[in-house]
Amino acid sequence: MKEKIKLLKGDITEQEVDAIVNAANSGLLGGGGVDGAIHRAGGKVIEEECKEIRNREGGCPTGKAVITHGGNLKASYVIHAVGPIWKDGNSDEDNLLASAYIESLKIADKHNLKTIAFPSISTGAYGFPVDRAAKIALRAVSNYLDKSDIKEVRFVLFSDYDYDVYSKAYDEL
Ligand code: ADP
Repeated sequence: MKEKIKLLKGDITEQEVDAIVNAANSGLLGGGGVDGAIHRAGGKVIEEECKEIRNREGGCPTGKAVITHGGNLKASYVIHAVGPIWKDGNSDEDNLLASAYIESLKIADKHNLKTIAFPSISTGAYGFPVDRAAKIALRAVSNYLDKSDIKEVRFVLFSDYDYDVYSKAYDEL
């Protein structure tokens, strides 16, 4: 359901939504990029809950997601999704990327969350080509929303270039 998807340019840490999604790593250790920004803005609570999950479950596999509270963020929750590291395009990257989005939305539904904001998962340090990622992300989310109570999904793009690429993919959806 494409109509529930909104694209905007901005900083995901400032979004007033039920949950923002983090482009996390499998160790849930925090890092650079959007992960670092979310941990800095949200504070210790996020790190502590990530540590508990790591101790209990050993982290989060690629293509899956886990949830913590949002700490000092305006968003109540952070869903930490682990996208694939781009290798050659023939190593299941497409499926794993779609899965990171879908697993995040499943967790949101399970917690009865209605508004969710995503960054462009895997297209920064993980090197996934952004045009290919945009098509996969928008298709996966749009299809999932056909059978979900989620009201709005925002894609918060950090650069003009990414915003333009996602806009084009959205128009072609
Ligand atoms: P990954 O390791 O999954 O590639 P990155 O954090 O390196 O994750 O990059 C994912 C995307 O998030 C990139 O497009 C990057 O520009 C973007 N990004 C970085 N900081 C923010 C932010 N504060 N809000 C939204 N997007 C951000």
